Amino acid sequence: MTVEKVKWGYDEKTGPDMWGHICSDFEIANTGKAQSPVNIEQSDVEKIKPSTMRIYYKETDYTIKRIEQSVHVFPHDKEQGLRFNGEYYPLVSFHAHIPAEHLLDGYIYPIEWHFVHEKADGTTLVMSAWMEIDNTTNVELKDLPKHFPEVFVDFETEREITLDANEFLPEERVFYTYQGSRTTPPTVEGVTWIVLKNAKSLKQEDFTELDKAIGNTSRPIQDLNGREITFYN
Ligand SMILES: [Zn+2]
Repeated sequence: MTVEKVKWGYDEKTGPDMWGHICSDFEIANTGKAQSPVNIEQSDVEKIKPSTMRIYYKETDYTIKRIEQSVHVFPHDKEQGLRFNGEYYPLVSFHAHIPAEHLLDGYIYPIEWHFVHEKADGTTLVMSAWMEIDNTTNVELKDLPKHFPEVFVDFETEREITLDANEFLPEERVFYTYQGSRTTPPTVEGVTWIVLKNAKSLKQEDFTELDKAIGNTSRPIQDLNGREITFYN
């Protein structure tokens, strides 16, 4: 096992309240005015029609491995992504936070997935998808939840899986969008967020496996500082 020191975490000593003090690269966590996540108050959002987003995900092979304090899932090719406002963003990886980071009218979902997209020029768009726990769901996450605690033990262990990322997404893809930041250090800004309004479900046993690895990985909500949240339906 490689000794890989992660400088930040979620506990009292190195947690979200301290991120801005850990090193100069992380200062934006304290000084930034467009930080994520945020609480979405439905009564405050500006409504726009129609949706200008198209998702091009398909079944493909992924590698699952620990990165810093979480587990990330990397597609082997970049032949999937999404189009938003005329721009195409390839999917580079996805991961989750337990409990959810973005709130809807103050409600905290048990889990929130982040699909990270990056254009060649470094422009980042993250699409967020909440899930509720419901044992009657037919969502097929295969062995993905089981692999999370397996790879979390160190930074070398990897697992391979074939998945269709559409499984994580609701049928009706109405969403909120705003300008924010990464939610882990360094919490750099300039990130376009797409937060899907409708939550999909996962089974309790799948949630339990994911929780073993990535339980308690949520940054608290940040001030909007006048930022607008827009709703596309
Ligand atoms: Zn995330």
